[in-house]
Amino acid sequence: MSGEPLRLMAVHAHPDDESSKGAATTARYAAEGVEVLVVTCTGGERGDVLNSSFVPPSGHGFDTLEAKRAVRRLEMAAAAEALGVRQHWLGFVDSGLPEGDPLPPLPEGCFALLPLEEASAPLVELVREFRPHVMTTYDPSGGYPHPDHVRCHEVAFEAYHAAGDGDRYVVDGGAAPWEPLKLYYNHGFSMDRLRAVHEAMEGAGLESPFGDWIESRTAREIPERIATTRIEVAEFFAQRDAALVAHASQIDPDGFFFAVPRDIEVDVWPTEEFELAESRIEVTTPEDDLFAGVRKES
Ligand SMILES: [Zn+2]
Repeated sequence: MSGEPLRLMAVHAHPDDESSKGAATTARYAAEGVEVLVVTCTGGERGDVLNSSFVPPSGHGFDTLEAKRAVRRLEMAAAAEALGVRQHWLGFVDSGLPEGDPLPPLPEGCFALLPLEEASAPLVELVREFRPHVMTTYDPSGGYPHPDHVRCHEVAFEAYHAAGDGDRYVVDGGAAPWEPLKLYYNHGFSMDRLRAVHEAMEGAGLESPFGDWIESRTAREIPERIATTRIEVAEFFAQRDAALVAHASQIDPDGFFFAVPRDIEVDVWPTEEFELAESRIEVTTPEDDLFAGVRKES
């Protein structure tokens, strides 16, 4: 070890994704002294209000892209503070979740429609500046069928591979090339976890929030991706919950994310899961640390 701090970069599509996917893991590493940077690709300008008790902060509206962007910036700042992490906006515009049959076209200029190089360039530069040892993002399906989540995977994958190559994404006066050592995909909503929590809630005579989801995922026969890495994070669930609540326009404090009592969650599923997708160092899976193998290299 050179005494240099470890660095973790978590790349997400929208403000609030960092709080619902791997949030307790970022809080844990930050508490342990790792430098954690959450990267948010878009401003979340096309998210609808998903919390019926939401009232915009005074002086703010929520009726235009600009107004939403401003509110969601305030929410994001509070969430980052709750997690104890730094956060950076890439500045792209939310593509929205197209709905209907046929699906409507995506709005002009949005993140998902940009050429891959244009969408990846700011992240490549940020990787060279922040120099993460480990990056996290979503799997190629996005983990959720939102065009920005798929695109988020694409740009993070591209940045992981291109940031170390000084012949690519050349910027005048830009930072030196940097190769992250590991790339992970978030897998916080595995079927194993849904089933375990579902059974524990039914066993306790409570209504499980996961019944319909388990049924629809089973029916779609989506192949399960393999979690290689489980991080013990029960101590950090309170920080994760505070970060979720900070996204007041998106998260109902009495809704889905809070339907599982904390004691059941701690008892049945005290971890967050990741899939090791790429590694430039030798590792042995399963692992219980995103920096396994890195700590002695850095
Ligand atoms: Zn999202």
